[in-house]
Amino acid sequence: MSHNCQAIVFTCMDFRFHSDIRDFLVSLGLKDEYDLVSLAGVTKGLAEDDALSKELILKQIEISKKLHSISEVYLIHHMDCGAYGGHQAFDSLEEEKSKQLTDLSTAKKIINEKFPAMEVKKILARVESRDEKNEIDFELIN
Ligand SMILES: [Zn+2]
Repeated sequence: MSHNCQAIVFTCMDFRFHSDIRDFLVSLGLKDEYDLVSLAGVTKGLAEDDALSKELILKQIEISKKLHSISEVYLIHHMDCGAYGGHQAFDSLEEEKSKQLTDLSTAKKIINEKFPAMEVKKILARVESRDEKNEIDFELIN
């Protein structure tokens, strides 16, 4: 019996993002096509070369690949992440975004060192207030 899926998705544990992340993934055609891992700060530990985080994250990809033959990894970081100390840990939004993009790139590099054929997609989410409603924007990073 084969039960394959397309991707493994890493998100922050932050409850504010889950339903929007699900909608976003569905909009990408990934409905029922991904394994899901939620970790505070997503790949922060991996990017900082924390041995435990690295082992944990690479292990999940390995299992997902073995069991479900995935070919893609989605890394969904977000602004104002508590694991990074939130907005207030940075002097500006630009500095915060720059740190997030750096960590995403570092994580992608480490993942591709172990899984060269895996397509790693980097995404940065942020909460935007529109018409007094909070909405989540997703930016696909090249
Ligand atoms: Zn977070």
